[in-house]
Amino acid sequence: MGKLNVEEIFGMNVFTLGKMKERLPKDAFREVTKVIENGGELSMATANVVAKAMKDWAVENGATHYSHWFQPLTGITAEKHDAFVTNPDEMGKMIMEFSGKELIKGEPDASSFPSGGLRATFEARGYTAWDITSPAFLKEASTGKILCIPTAFCSYTGEALDKKTPLLRSMEAISEQALRIVHLFGNTSATKVTASVGAEQEYFLIDADNYKKRKDLIFTGRTLFGAPAPKGQEMEDHYFGVIRERVGAFMKDLNEELWKVGITAKTQHNEVAPAQHELAPIYDTANIAVDHNQLVMETMKRVAVKHNMRCLLHEKPYAGVNGSGKHDNWSITTDNGVNLLDPGDTPNENIQFLLVLACIMKAVDTHADLLRQSASDVGNDHRLGADEAPPAIISIFLGEQLEDVVKQLVETGAATSVIQGGKLETGVSTLPDFEKDATDRNRTSPFAFTGNKFEFRMVGSADSIAAPNTTLNAIVAEAFCEAADRLEGAADFEMAVHDLIKEYMTEHQRIIFNGNGYSKEWVKEAEKRGLPNIKSTIEAAGTLTTEKAIKLFKKFGIYTETELASREEITYETYAKTINIEALTMIDMAGKDIVPAVIKYSKMLAETVNASKAAGVEPVAQIAILREVSDLLLEMQTAQKALEQVEKQAGEMTNTKERAFFYKDVVVPAMEALRKPADALEMIVDEDMWPFPTYGELMFEV
Ligand code: ADP
Ligand code: MG
Repeated sequence: MGKLNVEEIFGMNVFTLGKMKERLPKDAFREVTKVIENGGELSMATANVVAKAMKDWAVENGATHYSHWFQPLTGITAEKHDAFVTNPDEMGKMIMEFSGKELIKGEPDASSFPSGGLRATFEARGYTAWDITSPAFLKEASTGKILCIPTAFCSYTGEALDKKTPLLRSMEAISEQALRIVHLFGNTSATKVTASVGAEQEYFLIDADNYKKRKDLIFTGRTLFGAPAPKGQEMEDHYFGVIRERVGAFMKDLNEELWKVGITAKTQHNEVAPAQHELAPIYDTANIAVDHNQLVMETMKRVAVKHNMRCLLHEKPYAGVNGSGKHDNWSITTDNGVNLLDPGDTPNENIQFLLVLACIMKAVDTHADLLRQSASDVGNDHRLGADEAPPAIISIFLGEQLEDVVKQLVETGAATSVIQGGKLETGVSTLPDFEKDATDRNRTSPFAFTGNKFEFRMVGSADSIAAPNTTLNAIVAEAFCEAADRLEGAADFEMAVHDLIKEYMTEHQRIIFNGNGYSKEWVKEAEKRGLPNIKSTIEAAGTLTTEKAIKLFKKFGIYTETELASREEITYETYAKTINIEALTMIDMAGKDIVPAVIKYSKMLAETVNASKAAGVEPVAQIAILREVSDLLLEMQTAQKALEQVEKQAGEMTNTKERAFFYKDVVVPAMEALRKPADALEMIVDEDMWPFPTYGELMFEV
């Protein structure tokens, strides 16, 4: 095996700016960089030149097709491959071609993607448009090499049918509003503020042969039955443990694949649960980070298959052990290098930081419901609000030092007053370093300040990170906008800033919580504070169409009211469909696999009982077991019938929202009732007779 040269392979499958510079005429390249930096559109002439250069590069590297790569509301990516093939000339010679028009715009049939009612009111046709800020790349799969062009996906009347369009809009909004803030503080040379995101991705690996024996994993991505293994995560020996050889080989391959497409895979380690792992890239511009996270998830699945494993991205593949999430690290930085979440070294920077912090407190408190919604998906319902981290209540963790600063700012009256403890004397000395301290970081907080960024920890492992970042950008943009509106007109700027910081921090200090977010006391305390505790995805969906939400998103042109309504509708649809598949899978497994196995086992027991009796020995134990098995079997059968019944009822419902709630309130409990006796039976029935691999095998045979 040759030596791996990371520098050489990094980005080899990306049509980087560097490659464009090499291959494009100077003026075309200049136009491209201008559009990347300032927005706008490429002229058709330049688009043609770029398309040709891109195609030449792709073909030289073995590509046969191109694809507009987009992110419909399914949460995953979509692609339709078109070969570069054209009609041959009369001699039969064919020349591969790719035009500027094909680069810039595509027309996939929108009618088969979820539109949440947008389709009813508007045309079914949709189009994809090149997101020039995210570079094109070559995807290597069994189909050969495909040139993928990251695109936004909209209806012909301009409604966003995807997750990327609103994200791009939100990035513009926060840039514009954050600029107003930094300009007020004298940074007038800044012309753009960029939201940066680093997403830490958790996942499980499982042996492919075991996976294939479980219909639940195949159809739903999680186990629907399964008694706990004798060993779970209680020994705490997996987190940061030595990586097993097979997993190591997977990680090695995965890194290589990711580096090739320009993803800065950086950190890898074992997670809390057995067979659970994490990968984190270095943070990047928000839209690129979103694209990259999609690629990370896709690549994980593909590489796992090569290693005769499967990668489970579901938020809760196994009951009773840690689930998977995605920490969304977020910060905002000016184009002249100032991170607005960095406390800085000078008093001026400190005050700007405190204002930004105050605005974020206001944003998160005002829109806690929306932020929680942005991290919801069906799988994540098993984590948020369930007995496992993080809680469904949004709160902010600041760390001891910074919380103390906020407390003092709130308590001191006048804007010119002194912050006690020698930490901050407004306008004179500076804030202490809030370097994150690994020892006292609060792992239970859903939204934690970690030195120079916020870490949003609610996001589910399988979900796109587009929505969380769209919402974050939007709510912070709104707070910045309101602050700037007041400060720009202030007679005494310094005084006004201090008043504003104090006002926002006082009004919104209830959102700060530094304690144990998993405790029962916090749930009560949060209720007292009036913080929302939204338990499920479908309960969260309604937050999208409150007056408050519509006003926010409309104001900054991020979502129209129709776009919001469509997203709410899709949530109900997706929820009902997902639970429906899970319920049907359970019925199938119970009826076709578990019940027959249990019957076989009882038959064996009954025969033993008879044989024992014939031999003149009273089979007391066998009879007791047989009874228990029979009772549980009856319980199972009854529960299965009940589940079939409510499934039928759900199928007859026509109102999408009502149906979704019926699934949550009636079908899900019926599924739990079926699982309980089945799991109890698994503990009794002969292991060789149990129809599929157990938790112990699934988690420890990797
Ligand atoms: P951990 O949270 O495990 O301690 P780190 O804090 O080092 O790990 O980084 C986690 C993720 O946060 C990485 O993807 C990293 O690139 C990203 N990150 C670091 N600094 C920033 C920042 N200023 N803005 C956004 N993301 C960042
Ligand atoms: Mg982290």
